[in-house]
Amino acid sequence: MGKFNVQTIFKAVQRGTGLEKHSEYVKDYFFDANMRASIYMSIMVIVLEVWMIIRTTRTLIINDLMGKFGHYFEKYYINYIILLLAGIVMFVYATRYLRRGKGRKWLGNLIKLAFSAICIYFGIKISIQDYQKGEQILTFLTMELFVVCLLTWRPWVGFSILTSSYAIFFYILSRMEAPNTGEVGLTLATQINGFTMWLSTMVFCVSNYNKTLSQALKDERLEKMNSHLRRISVEDELTGIHNMLYFRNEAEKLLGYVTTDKENAVFLFFDIENFKSFNEKYGFRSGNELLKKVAHMIEDAYPNSLVSRFSDDHFVVLTHADGCREAADKLSEEISSLQNEVHLQLKCGAYQITNDETDPSLACDRARFACNSIKKHFDDNFRFYDKMLEDKFQLKQYIVNSIDNAIANNHIKVYYQPVVSTRTGEIVGLEALARWIDPRYGLLPPGAFIEILEEYRQIHKLDICIIDTVCRDYREACESGEVVVPVSLNFSRLDFELCDIVKELSYRAEKYGVPKEFLDVEITESALVDSQGAMKKAMAELRALGYKVWLDDFGSGYSSMNVLKDHSFDVLKIDMKFLSGFDENPKTKLIINNIVALTKEIDMISLTEGVETKEQFEFLASINCDRAQGYLFSKPVPIEKLRERAAKGELKFSEEYRLLHL
Ligand code: C2E
Ligand code: CA
Ligand code: CA
Repeated sequence: MGKFNVQTIFKAVQRGTGLEKHSEYVKDYFFDANMRASIYMSIMVIVLEVWMIIRTTRTLIINDLMGKFGHYFEKYYINYIILLLAGIVMFVYATRYLRRGKGRKWLGNLIKLAFSAICIYFGIKISIQDYQKGEQILTFLTMELFVVCLLTWRPWVGFSILTSSYAIFFYILSRMEAPNTGEVGLTLATQINGFTMWLSTMVFCVSNYNKTLSQALKDERLEKMNSHLRRISVEDELTGIHNMLYFRNEAEKLLGYVTTDKENAVFLFFDIENFKSFNEKYGFRSGNELLKKVAHMIEDAYPNSLVSRFSDDHFVVLTHADGCREAADKLSEEISSLQNEVHLQLKCGAYQITNDETDPSLACDRARFACNSIKKHFDDNFRFYDKMLEDKFQLKQYIVNSIDNAIANNHIKVYYQPVVSTRTGEIVGLEALARWIDPRYGLLPPGAFIEILEEYRQIHKLDICIIDTVCRDYREACESGEVVVPVSLNFSRLDFELCDIVKELSYRAEKYGVPKEFLDVEITESALVDSQGAMKKAMAELRALGYKVWLDDFGSGYSSMNVLKDHSFDVLKIDMKFLSGFDENPKTKLIINNIVALTKEIDMISLTEGVETKEQFEFLASINCDRAQGYLFSKPVPIEKLRERAAKGELKFSEEYRLLHL
C-alpha cells in the first residue's frame, strides 16, 4: 500500500514537471502540435511586426523625423526586422514540415527555441522602452503568452523559460525609475501584477502540457489498436505468416495483371498427414509449435512466392512452376525427419493455372483436390491436378450442387439386394442401396457420391430420401398384395449430427403405416469408433422404439471388438472381405466360424455379405451362419426386378412376416 502511494506521488510529480519519458509516438505528437502552433504564432508575429514597421514609419513621416532614420533604425526598426525574420523562418519551416509530414526534427527544435528566445528577448527590450515612456509592458506579456501558451513545453522547461525571463525583466525594471512615482524600484502593484501573470502563465503551461499529453496517449493507444487490427487482418495469428484473406486478395491481383506469367504460375496445397496423431500424442501446444515451424519451412522453401495458412494443418502457395516439385519433395523429407515417432508426411497437390483463370479460390480447391487424392498413399507425396482429376473434380462439384435437384426430380432410386436365410434359402430381408440415375452421368453407384455428400455434410438429405422411398415402396407392395419382408437402411454417422434421423424415420414409418419390425438400421463399424455419447443415445432410442440395429462391415476396421463391447446390436454383418480369400486361405473358414459362434453367444443374428459362390453359401449353412447376402442370389436391383424373378420361381420371399403387418 505504502509503495503504491509513493509510486503514485512520484508519478504525479513526474507528470506535473514533465520529467517522464515519452515514447517516439508521443514525442512526434508534441512536435507536430508545436509546429502547428508555430504557424499561428509566426503569422501573428509577422503581422504584428509589419504593422509596427508601418506605424513607426508613419509616425516618422508625420513628425518629419525621417532625417533621423539612422537613429530610429537602430532603436526600433532593427528589433522589428529581426523579429519579422525569425517569424518568417519559423513559418517556412513549420509549413514545409507539416506539408511533407517529415523533416529534420533537431532543426525544427532549434528554430523553435531560437524563435522563442528572440520573441522573449525583444518582448523584454521593447517593453523596457515602453516602460521608460510610462506605457504598459504589454509586448513582454504578449510574447510570454505566445511562447509559453501557444507552444507546448514540458512544465520544467516552461518554468525555466518563464521564471528566468520574468526574473531578468523585473530585475531590469527594479533598477529603473518607476514612471508614476519617479523613484527607483518596483511599485507593489507592479510586483503583484508581475507575480500573478507569472503564476497564471505557468498554470496554463502545465495544463496545456497535460491536455496535449493525454490526447497524445489516447491517440497512441488508438494507433496501436489500429495497427494490431491491420496486422491481424492479413496475418495468421498462430503461425505469423499471411492468412487466406491476404492470399486471395494478392493472388487475385497477380492473376489480374497482364504482365504475370500465368502459364508458369502454380498453386500448391499442402497437408500434413498424421498431424492429428501428432497432436494427440504430444498435445496442442507442441502441435502449434509444429505448425509454426512447418509454416516457416514452407516460406523458406518458396522464396518470392505467396505463402499462407489455409486452415488447420493446410497451407497454400502461389509460386513459379519451375522446381516447385523438387522443393516440395525436399520439404516432405525434412518434415518426416523432424521426429520419428509419428510418421509425419507432407502431401502436396499442385494446380497449374490456365491463361484465362482469375479465381484463386477455385485454383486452391483444385490443388486441394489433387492433394486429397494422394492421402494415405504412403509412397506418394506430390500430385499434379490432371485430366483424370479434373473429371472427378467436376463430378464432385456436380454432386454437391445437384443433390437437392436430384431428390426433387426423383433421380435418386432405391435398389434392393436380398438377404437370404441359410436354413430355407428364402428371402428374409432386403438391403436398400442408393442409386443416382443422372440425366448427364447415367447410373452413379454410391461409391461416387456417398463420401462427397458426407464431406459436404449433405448426406442426411439422401438418407431421408431413401427412408421415404422405402416406406412408400412398402405401402405400395402391401396395397397390391405382395409379400413383404423387412428392409435394412444404411445410416451415415453424420445423419445423427445433421438432423434428428430417429424422428425422420419414425415420422415416415407412421405416415406410410410401416410397422417397426419392417425397418432395420445398418450402422457401419467405422462410424462407431470414437463415436460421441449422442450417437450411443440415438441407437438406444432406435432400439427402444422397436427398430433393429445392425452392425455393418464387422471386421473391416481395427476396433471391431470394442464396438461390440460398447454397443448392442440385433444383427452382425460380417464384412465381405472375410470371404475374399475363401478358396486359397484355409484360415478364412476358421475365422468366420469363430465369429459366427461368438454372435450366437452374445445373442445376435449372424449375416455374411459378399456371398458369390455356392460353396461359400454351403459352408455358411454348415456353420449355422443365419443369413447370407451377395451376388449369388442377386445384385442390388429395382424392386420390380426381384418380384419378376420371384414370380418366375427363381427367388422366394419368406412368408414368415406376413402375420406381422396384418
Ligand atoms: P454396404 O452397406 O457394405 O453395401 C454392400 C455393398 O456391397 C453394396 O455396394 C453391394 O452392391 C455390394 N455387394 C453386395 N453383394 C456383393 C457381392 O457378392 N460381391 C461384391 N463384390 N459386392 C457385393 P453399393 O451398393 O455400391 O454400396 C456401397 C456402399 O455405399 C454401401 O456399403 C453403403 O455403405 C453405402 N450406401 C449405399 N446406399 C446408401 C444409403 O442409402 N445411405 C448411406 N448412408 N450409405 C449408403
Ligand atoms: Ca450396408
Ligand atoms: Ca457392408
